[in-house]
Amino acid sequence: MKIVDIQTRILKAPLKTPFKTALRTVTHLEDLVVMVHTDNGFIGYGEGAATAVITGETLTGMQGAIEHIKPILLGKDIEAFNKLLHTIEYSMIHNSTIKAALEMALYDLRAQALQLPLYKMLGGAETKFKTDITISLNGIDTMLKDCQKAINLGYNILKIKVGENISKDYERIKTITNTFKKSTLRIDANQAWTAKESVTLLGRLENEGIVPELIEQPVKANDFRGMKYIKERTITPLLADESVFSAKQAIELLEMDACDFINIKLAKCGGISHALKIADIAELYNVKCMIGCMLEGPISVGAAVHVASARSDVITMLDLDGASLLARNPIKGGTTFNESDIELNDAHGLGIKQID
Ligand code: MG
Repeated sequence: MKIVDIQTRILKAPLKTPFKTALRTVTHLEDLVVMVHTDNGFIGYGEGAATAVITGETLTGMQGAIEHIKPILLGKDIEAFNKLLHTIEYSMIHNSTIKAALEMALYDLRAQALQLPLYKMLGGAETKFKTDITISLNGIDTMLKDCQKAINLGYNILKIKVGENISKDYERIKTITNTFKKSTLRIDANQAWTAKESVTLLGRLENEGIVPELIEQPVKANDFRGMKYIKERTITPLLADESVFSAKQAIELLEMDACDFINIKLAKCGGISHALKIADIAELYNVKCMIGCMLEGPISVGAAVHVASARSDVITMLDLDGASLLARNPIKGGTTFNESDIELNDAHGLGIKQID
């Protein structure tokens, strides 16, 4: 089964409401879909979002990366799978999202060739999952309304974006926690605080009996010492997101004992093979993982669900609301997303049938 062509197309879809974090505001999904064609007529699908503020990638840069690697992959046999993954990894440095999209397409093809859904090819068994939903960073009144709307749609876990300034963030977390006592709250500051600010704010909340399920990436991605400083001085569990792109960074952070959880994202780590590696490393340190997504569509978020199934003992939290934030789903087939409920099916590979 040889690769005969690699094509890309842009996938654009409006969001139900604008997505706002401490780093950016987005109104549309705009992803690059990668289609790898083989000589027996199979198509493997991959997808990646150009999240410049996080991975440094843009859509045109991702298209350029595909043009760079295409001649290297054409004519290669899918059966030499590990060699192909190695080729992708070392074809260029960085470019984690486009590498993830390419890996995804190859995993899709391999599972199709083996006539298995991807999660089964990876040894997974679980098919039903619950995701949280992201509540965008806005004024408190808007956030309270958005939380209520999400709860009405059946979400039990809310991921609250903060990171405006410390005193407003304190009010946000306190008000939302006190208003929605039955919901599980995850707080994501997207690198907006310093380590000292984090300790002051979390300490103040903890003294008032407010302990969210976790605080995600309060400090800058490269501030590992800041992460450790926070972990040692607060009881709120600390989740590393932007600090961990690679398996090597996971080891560094875990060796420092500088986080309680790791957020794995295909677009950060460079694809499914790397995500599995990070989950396996975390397990060695008895650390559980979340699997998350960028603002991305049903193909790549779906692939992340297959990974969650494959490592369900370690990946205990899903932050895979990317597909549910879309006003309409442009993909036929694949993983089923129904608000907080996500379900894998037994179609071969990723199960993608068509893109509108
Ligand atoms: Mg995050």
